Amino acid sequence: MISKILIANRGEIALRVLRACKELGIATVAVHSTADANAMHVRLADESVCIGPPPSRDSYLNIHQIVAACEITGADAVHPGYGFLSENAKFADILDAHGITFIGPTAEHIRLMGDKITAKKTAVELGIPVVPGSDGEVLPENALEIARSIGFPVLIKATAGGGGRGMKVAKTEADLEEAVSTARSEALAAFGNDAVYMEKYLGKPRHIEVQVVGDGAGNAIHLGERDCSLQRRHQKVWEEANSPALNVEQRMKIGQICADAMKKMKYRGAGTIEFLYENGEFYFIEMNTRLQVEHPITEAITGIDLVHEQIRVASGAGLSVTQDEIVFSGHAIECRINAEDPRTFVPSPGTITHFHAPGGLGVRVDSGAYAGYKIPPYYDSLIGKLIVHGRTRVECMMRLRRVLDEFVVDGIKTTLPLFQDLVSNQDIANGDYDIHWLEKYLASDTAKG
Ligand code: ADP
Repeated sequence: MISKILIANRGEIALRVLRACKELGIATVAVHSTADANAMHVRLADESVCIGPPPSRDSYLNIHQIVAACEITGADAVHPGYGFLSENAKFADILDAHGITFIGPTAEHIRLMGDKITAKKTAVELGIPVVPGSDGEVLPENALEIARSIGFPVLIKATAGGGGRGMKVAKTEADLEEAVSTARSEALAAFGNDAVYMEKYLGKPRHIEVQVVGDGAGNAIHLGERDCSLQRRHQKVWEEANSPALNVEQRMKIGQICADAMKKMKYRGAGTIEFLYENGEFYFIEMNTRLQVEHPITEAITGIDLVHEQIRVASGAGLSVTQDEIVFSGHAIECRINAEDPRTFVPSPGTITHFHAPGGLGVRVDSGAYAGYKIPPYYDSLIGKLIVHGRTRVECMMRLRRVLDEFVVDGIKTTLPLFQDLVSNQDIANGDYDIHWLEKYLASDTAKG
């Protein structure tokens, strides 16, 4: 059994994990940089340890300091949240060597899915549909032959990719040479590895991802899908569950394919299998071997606490539900509240002077922000997540409109006004959008007005 969890993260996700620990009667240790001494997760944890100066590499990414904090406090497990060390196989190995439980998958599975070419090969072996593309690495000398066999337009992607970096489209043969060379140099600069591969470029796909949880012993479930097509620069902005584009049969079919794949792998912990979806077909793009930012919308429609499940399977207690017991109920939407200008998306760190979170039926706010809180400039700009649930998508949208009017964050700029625009937009009301919709909308006059 796990009795004390060190939460190796900050912000809203540290608080989110802490809440689950408290409900399970597990003691908590917060770690923080000097910039986060006044953060809410530090205040609410049973114990806290300062692990270094503000830059992430010296604190939240500093494995030695985090292991030392476990030793000092006697924490027997670590929850990594998302980002930072959550998909770092070396971290999982080091914790294992110290006899500390990593609340996540095995280091082997993190490595397998962390390399995109291996991940795609594994997906094919597990029966998951993938985007047509190269079998492995693409070199400048064989790029043309491969691109012709796939058919233009093609997308060049970094093997070690993340955050949309090292990704270039070649619409025609004339664009190919430059696309391959810029993708390779961007990949080298961002990841220290210039390997790239090639995929068919899909014109108007949706981003649909399936939530899975496995017990590590061959049992796994799926918790339906999330539609995260509303993105800006490959960053998700608004997510919903279920996807407005799928019916029940499609949902259960793709969900079962993913759950069966996780059973075959003997996957342990929570994971997300990401697809592009176009013309009724699913195309695997990657698997994230961790909890995702947008996991609360899945919790809203299933009533299942994903962090509880993560902790259960990490401690060997197995899953709390079977697939047949999962009931999908209603519709949920998450808005990511960033400390950014709602038009230019320039970060807006500073002190929050007023903070009033909305309430009422079907409303959840995951945030460590409060009046007087000074947002440090060193980390990502997500300051909170607003999750709204309704019995139908229409009810959910009506509730979201009401709730956005109640939400007050003064002193800094936030993305709240963007959501007020989106919730009144006809395409959004119709669920009629693809992964390019938001960028086009932001560039249009409607958005500027
Ligand atoms: P990263 O790990 O860099 O975020 P992903 O493979 O997850 O890369 O892709 C990020 C985003 O790039 C997707 O959500 C989608 O918007 C776009 N994308 C990826 N692959 C394709 C493709 N084959 N065709 C069209 N768009 C794609």
